[in-house]
Amino acid sequence: AQALDTTAIRADFPILDQQVNGQPLIYLDNAATSQTPLSVLASYEQYYKGYNANIHRGAHKLAREATEKFEAARQNLARHINAADDREIIFTSGVTDSINLVANILSLSGEITADHNVIISGLEHHSNIVPWQMLCERTGAELRVIPILDNGTFDMPAFDQLIDKNTAVVSVNHYSNSLGTRNPIEDIIAAAKKVDAYTCIDGAQSAPHERIDVQSLDCDFYTISGHKMYGPTGTGLLYGRTQVLEKMPPWRGGGEMIKLVTFEKTTYNELPFKYEAGTPNIEGAIAFSAAADYVNQIGLENIAAHERHLAKIATEGLLEIDGLRIYGTAAEKAAVISFLVDGVHHYDLGTLLDQMGVAVRTGHHCCQPLMARFGITGTVRASFAMYNTEQEAEAFVKSTQRAINMLR
Ligand code: PMP
Repeated sequence: AQALDTTAIRADFPILDQQVNGQPLIYLDNAATSQTPLSVLASYEQYYKGYNANIHRGAHKLAREATEKFEAARQNLARHINAADDREIIFTSGVTDSINLVANILSLSGEITADHNVIISGLEHHSNIVPWQMLCERTGAELRVIPILDNGTFDMPAFDQLIDKNTAVVSVNHYSNSLGTRNPIEDIIAAAKKVDAYTCIDGAQSAPHERIDVQSLDCDFYTISGHKMYGPTGTGLLYGRTQVLEKMPPWRGGGEMIKLVTFEKTTYNELPFKYEAGTPNIEGAIAFSAAADYVNQIGLENIAAHERHLAKIATEGLLEIDGLRIYGTAAEKAAVISFLVDGVHHYDLGTLLDQMGVAVRTGHHCCQPLMARFGITGTVRASFAMYNTEQEAEAFVKSTQRAINMLR
């Protein structure tokens, strides 16, 4: 991997150049949302200054241009995750929206009954738990949960016991947002395929750090949020295997998703439009694609190596602090550090860090069952991105030590 020129990169992210409470901002809440480079902002400006129009049916030049750019964004993102066909990319508002789409079409398909089970893991974000609970309520299927070991990894022997010929769906995250663990999704997908279960991967935390190849993963569904990979909020995608999406029923009804509407009967559009009812977030999809270009220009491998280097500096520094415990100690993990300190509440620590200009996340990280598994109410989480520096990693450790001294 190539070393990153963080000075040049930071020049593309003007938001980072500001003071918070009189201190230079150190932004370490990237797993919640990442910042947006100038090229992505420029794509918004070009859209609204040059070709803002509704897509697909306009007879005029602006509509043609908007349609071309929107479809080019789809093609670009399809290439970005190596989908075999552009029609397998459905634009959504993010991972939550994508997983709800999958759970809804599977539950409407009639394929899942009370005889079936759905497997998720104890590491999931609420957005990969609740839609499946809702599916189970509707279909009578049983929700099964892969237990989590003390180091924050899946208990794979337990998974082998859970999966059986009645497993209809296995849906797990690629990387845990709260602990950073990289999960063995290749093994999970292989096991699910043996029993003909659908596979769905929550890629919210992988897309900014790892090259995703949906063909080599061979999953049925893969989901991404734009705002975690340097794109805008309210953007995302669902990758769905053509053969699966083609046989599934539509979910949301409205414009775009239809072929012919009469009051007696409506026929539905082809993929991907069948799953894109209404006017989509046109400029957001185009900006999301610009974010993928930005990431590719820097190189995902270079980004991941840089972030791991920073996380190592911070982890080593934090571990010297008396009474500090890191949750999630798997060998394979993203640059996410989740920790607690004896006698200190995570919220108080986060508040003091904010006063020192350091932005971290505190609380349950939308993973209440995982927190319950560890018998805690939350952690302090620092998560790194391409624009963070060694000096920031070191300053974060020093500020944490100072805050703890003030609180103890
Ligand atoms: N899954 C994971 C692992 C996440 O980190 C997040 C965002 N915190 C989501 C799902 C939900 O993503 P979004 O809020 O963009 O829909």
